[in-house]
Amino acid sequence: MEYKIELTSDDVAKNWYNINADLPVELPAPKNSEGKDQISTLPDIFVNECLAQEFSTERYIKIPTEVRELYQRLGRPTPLCRAKGLEEKLNTPAKIYYKREDTSPTGSHKLNSAIAQAYFAKKEGVEKLTTETGAGQWGTALSLAASLMDLDCTVYMVRVSFDQKPFRKTIMQLYDGNVYASPSNQTAVGRKILEETPDHPGSLGIAISEAVEDALSDEKTKYTLGSVLNHVILHQTVIGQEIQTQLEIAEEEPDTMIACVGGGSNFGGSLFPFIKEKIKGNTDCEFLAVEPSACPTLSEGEYTYDFGDEVGFTPLLKMFTLGHNFVAPSVHAGGLRYHGMNTQVSLLKNEGYITPRTAHQTEVFAAGKMFAKCEGVIPAPETNHAIKVAIDEAQKCKQTGEEKTIVVNFSGHGLMDFKGYGSFMDGSMEDC
Ligand SMILES: *Cc1c(COP(=O)(O)O)cnc(C)c1O
Repeated sequence: MEYKIELTSDDVAKNWYNINADLPVELPAPKNSEGKDQISTLPDIFVNECLAQEFSTERYIKIPTEVRELYQRLGRPTPLCRAKGLEEKLNTPAKIYYKREDTSPTGSHKLNSAIAQAYFAKKEGVEKLTTETGAGQWGTALSLAASLMDLDCTVYMVRVSFDQKPFRKTIMQLYDGNVYASPSNQTAVGRKILEETPDHPGSLGIAISEAVEDALSDEKTKYTLGSVLNHVILHQTVIGQEIQTQLEIAEEEPDTMIACVGGGSNFGGSLFPFIKEKIKGNTDCEFLAVEPSACPTLSEGEYTYDFGDEVGFTPLLKMFTLGHNFVAPSVHAGGLRYHGMNTQVSLLKNEGYITPRTAHQTEVFAAGKMFAKCEGVIPAPETNHAIKVAIDEAQKCKQTGEEKTIVVNFSGHGLMDFKGYGSFMDGSMEDC
């Protein structure tokens, strides 16, 4: 029996897969809000090639040789592993596979898009990238990618996370990232907030405003995003294409595929190549998107036009949203606290191709602990959401006797998240 299905460097995908070419209905375009023209300022903020990819309808977009080589040098393809220990613990006839994006040097799938975005920026003569980071995974990935491309990188990190996760900051600094606690005195937005509230804890919305202001202040500086946008998911589709090859080798057809959803990038990246087959009518596979009960965007949000950020700076996007003023409770899965959702994931949920699920914080950490005990790997709090639902599905199989093949995208490791695990273990974690 094969516990780990490994591919070779040569198996890294040569193209990204763009689901815009196969969507069952047309994707609603972004809109300007009344009296404003946010769409025409996008080229001042974003890297041109990324903007072009955002709206492309080409089914396959070639991965530049340099980007593909960096994927290979930095650990792609990642293994697909069988969670045999977990299956035995659950005494289930189901087979559980997990795709190990935690083996990336920065600890999550985020590097797949960071490398691509930094590459296109460099090619267009950009000298500096800015971004915001909440939990720190995206800031870490972008710091490394910028350093590999010899670009400057400035990361505005939400102050509470900055204070809670000092080691994240150190990792970014090792990669030469300039990290500021946001609100910072680097920008007008930040200085104004600090003047009024010197000990402001910060928010993703404020950090976005600071990173965008920084990008707008200089022609050679561009802003990047680590999730939500279509081009970010596009870059992540290397994951799903590898899973396809690995399942062929294992001679498995997936029945249930599961990923957590924050902005939708690890979900779309790992599952869009499979959802394509469902749209064509070639598979009955179920696609489960798992989110925190505290931030149930797909499960309870409204499918409507809303801003991508809290300040109302971005164009309006047609998506599932809890409202751009929604403030999620500070669950430990910082990557899953976004009020909106990628527009393609939203459309596919609306058309019935994706089934959302929610899970509460303590049951999610209990699932992560069980996984760690059985398989050794400690999942990120975000990843725990997908594992929780995989365990639920495997337990259903025990009841029904079905030998389903369940595939989980293991988006990242939890080795920087011991504050969350610590509070789970000492019983002080709040359930929500
Ligand atoms: C950022 C992150 C997520 C959530 O973002 P998506 O864009 O929805 O994938 C999930 N897991 C990990 C480990 C992350 O770093």
